[in-house]
Amino acid sequence: MNYSSLMRKHLLTVKAYSSARDEFDGDASVFLDANENPFDIGGNDHLNRYPDPHQKLLKRKIAAIKGAKVENIFLGNGSDEAIDLLFRAFCEPGKDEIIIMPPTYGMYEVSAGINNIGLVKIPLKADYQLDVDQVLSCVTDTTKMLMICSPNNPSGNRLHRQDIEQLLLNFPGLVVLDEAYIDFDEEGGFLSRLEQYPNLVILQTFSKAWGLAGLRIGMAFAHTEIIDILNLIKPPYNINALSQKKALDVVEKHEKVSEAVETILAERAQLVLKLEQLSLVEKVFPSHANFVLVKMKHAAKIYHSLVGDKIIVRDRSKVIKCDDCLRITIGTAAENTTLINALRKYA
Ligand SMILES: *Cc1c(COP(=O)(O)O)cnc(C)c1O
Repeated sequence: MNYSSLMRKHLLTVKAYSSARDEFDGDASVFLDANENPFDIGGNDHLNRYPDPHQKLLKRKIAAIKGAKVENIFLGNGSDEAIDLLFRAFCEPGKDEIIIMPPTYGMYEVSAGINNIGLVKIPLKADYQLDVDQVLSCVTDTTKMLMICSPNNPSGNRLHRQDIEQLLLNFPGLVVLDEAYIDFDEEGGFLSRLEQYPNLVILQTFSKAWGLAGLRIGMAFAHTEIIDILNLIKPPYNINALSQKKALDVVEKHEKVSEAVETILAERAQLVLKLEQLSLVEKVFPSHANFVLVKMKHAAKIYHSLVGDKIIVRDRSKVIKCDDCLRITIGTAAENTTLINALRKYA
């Protein structure tokens, strides 16, 4: 795959900012190179110093846990930054377009809009699966990227592997596979197949199973040339020192993450059973994520009743193919019981 012909032409001549920490990152006792304040005024976290611009320690740990190589990993200020940088790297504003498959994650459209990138929407089929032929038939010279989300937000289902493979093999641009919920899916994702598909970019995040939505760390896994382009255009210190440190702490304790995932999956099974017993529930869609999409009688009205009871779920009833649907995140046992008790009152 010729990555330099895929990327925006003007970037070929852009040189990355070389920070003080890029030019020297060995061991030294006196650092007078970055115009930092020598005094750690805030306390003892050494926050007077700039963070590692390449997050080497954290990437090494992630690589070990995920079975990936450090040079295939990019870390962003949330997956949202990775999405924005992918568009800025590969899509010419006012000219190129991406394909999305609604109902899907809202940020693809927002970020494309901010970057003035064209958007082609090929809805998922009635069963929320990919319409492979339709997607491929809409590709033009200016179609640069395909955004696939599996397990899909907001429908919760995983997309058929063979369909994703078909698209990876036949789509001429980059295929961005958003695996934000992959830790909840026992079938696993495409990370082990990265070398097989040079056009594959996998997005994962610390925000869901890892329980660190507040830190803002998203991961992109891809061919080194793609990672190099993202590193070229990212703000030098895009992951702050506290986020790097806290993420390292949690990565060390990753069995706790597996325990939390087990608990959430067990709670999901309970919640689905209880939802299905309610007369106002028409359908609970099968989920491989930490939420369920639920079709209800008068979903918008129920949403507002729940707000009145201080319970917030996500109203997706105005979203294409999600008529009368609410998206409900799996909470603690107590939270889920509170939700069910409230819904029982309205039945
Ligand atoms: C929650 C979510 C993300 C995570 O975004 P962050 O910026 O990493 O918090 C990414 N993709 C999808 C589909 C999501 O639902």
